[in-house]
Amino acid sequence: MFPKTAMLRAIISGFGLLTCVAHGAAQAEDLSPAEQQIIAAVKGHSDAALQLLERSVNINSGTLNHDGVREVGKLFRAELDGLGFKTSWSEMPAAMNRAGHLLAEREGTQGKRVLMIGHLDTVFEKDSPVRLWDRKGNRVRGQGVNDMKGGDVIMIEALRALHAVGALDNTRIQVIFSGDEESAGHPISISRADLINAAKRSDAALAFEGTALDADGNATGTVGRRASGGFVLTVKAKQGHSATVFGHNGYGAIYETARILNSFREQLIEPDLTFNAGNIIGGTEITYDSLTGKATAFGKTNVIPPSALVHGDLRYLSAEQGKRATERMRDIVSKNLPGTSASISFSENYPPMSPTPGNFALLDIYSKASKDAGLGEIKALPPGERGAGDIQFVAPYVASLDGLGATGRGAHSPDEDLDISSIQKATIRTAIYLYRLTR
Ligand SMILES: [Zn+2]
Repeated sequence: MFPKTAMLRAIISGFGLLTCVAHGAAQAEDLSPAEQQIIAAVKGHSDAALQLLERSVNINSGTLNHDGVREVGKLFRAELDGLGFKTSWSEMPAAMNRAGHLLAEREGTQGKRVLMIGHLDTVFEKDSPVRLWDRKGNRVRGQGVNDMKGGDVIMIEALRALHAVGALDNTRIQVIFSGDEESAGHPISISRADLINAAKRSDAALAFEGTALDADGNATGTVGRRASGGFVLTVKAKQGHSATVFGHNGYGAIYETARILNSFREQLIEPDLTFNAGNIIGGTEITYDSLTGKATAFGKTNVIPPSALVHGDLRYLSAEQGKRATERMRDIVSKNLPGTSASISFSENYPPMSPTPGNFALLDIYSKASKDAGLGEIKALPPGERGAGDIQFVAPYVASLDGLGATGRGAHSPDEDLDISSIQKATIRTAIYLYRLTR
């Protein structure tokens, strides 16, 4: 998935800067001889890296196109096999309707145990009219170029550069390319089990979703992503003649719903917490179809309505913030107006990636690697500014950093594109970073 406001801002104001800001040249004294060789290896393979990206993008791999997802998996698997990884394909039960994941691992004894996370699928299903690959100069448009086949190629190319100088020997690195990041299979306990198991055996998790730019066009790192979930508010009331409203027949379901939502807005607003009421239905008779999000309502102006229903979205940055918010919402919901009753239920699709000290420590090492390679300091993207992603399933178990991939705009849209030069930059940063983490 893709960063929302930050990426948009970067697109609007930062892109022009990105291509013309000259970063300071790499200071040779900041890099070891091995690191200088690694950078040379990345540069020497840049054209081939772009070809690998083109090959992967030319395979449609919408989440539900299992053959396509497997085909991209096969392509990347061959690359990882060539780099000395032990690879396997993790099948999902047929009922889940997902292609599965590509797993790869190198066993060793030195340095940190690193987990690298990418995904094979895109939001563009087989019948998508969006072109697969359409290069114009230094940019390329296409299905999943940036979200996230660009990031996938960066992962492989960074590992290839380390391999080229013998620096993968004895490292402990796991790679997971999930096949259903854009629409995680249910139950989550099965579709995300491989990620969670790998996280439990790692010291650091790195995800290669697109690098978001700040307002000045500088690359950032993602140390936090908000949990994403929802709420359903159900309100019941006594039906009666409208002339008796506020009297012995009570207030009706619609006034009670209005009280509750307005109380949320008045009492709950705080940084990094949002609760959006997405639809509301009220009246004498209501129906709601959760598959389509379509609803019907019937009611008369002279009848106190007995039913109302609200579906909303809820996002928070830490489990503690989520708990606090849901407790206060339940409390507000319980203080019913006369003649009414209400209940609220909550669901969580993605757990929060809280911006922990461990995540910031990982960012510091990454930023230093980038600076030493002459590619500038990397600051944290404000944690509230990014949508949900796979890193969130591992973040509760291991220090995590996301947003290490390529830079582009318009993810999930027909205009999705990629700045080709960002591949080499991110690959250099990642390669030096991996080298240092695994010494
Ligand atoms: Zn993605």
